Amino acid sequence: GERQPTNINHLADEYLRLAYQGLRAKDKTFNATLNTEFAPDLPLVQAIGPDLGRVLLNLFSNAFYAVRQRQLRGEAGYAPTVTVCTHQRGDQIEIKVRDNGPGIPETVRQKIFQPFFTTKPSGEGTGLGLSLSYDIVTQGHSGTLTVISEEGKYTEFLISLPINQAD
Ligand code: ADP
Ligand code: MG
Repeated sequence: GERQPTNINHLADEYLRLAYQGLRAKDKTFNATLNTEFAPDLPLVQAIGPDLGRVLLNLFSNAFYAVRQRQLRGEAGYAPTVTVCTHQRGDQIEIKVRDNGPGIPETVRQKIFQPFFTTKPSGEGTGLGLSLSYDIVTQGHSGTLTVISEEGKYTEFLISLPINQAD
């Protein structure tokens, strides 16, 4: 693919809805609140749209899966929520994907970017999403992909992409 000036807000919005509707088509009892906080003046980024789209789709699918797992535990008052934010920070743009699912234990977090690592039952996960996403962001876009999480509270993935890429 070729890098092209890309509106990250549009891409994120499109794939967020795709991921949510895809899940709801398979699981009609699933409901989540989608929050978006898109920076209105976000600069275009040199990106390979379909590749970055795959990254977002995977992060969103993981986030929905996480909140669904927690919802299925039947905690009183639990409101599944996935939040997507975009910002400019200096010469980078940031995309944050946050969910209020079960979080990721430290021992698991060390392995999530490894190919074929999954905690999902067979048929539900290949374990390739995050390793592929990591390569697309770092090698394909000269960016970074990091995660923070607090068990029982939230998980947040952060994509950081340079606005102007020299290479
Ligand atoms: P898969 O989704 O096929 O399992 P991924 O590479 O996308 O593969 O994710 C690897 C693992 O990372 C998941 O199986 C899960 O244990 C963990 N993970 C990823 N995203 C989240 C999240 N939002 N909340 C909790 N765990 C997560
Ligand atoms: Mg995945």
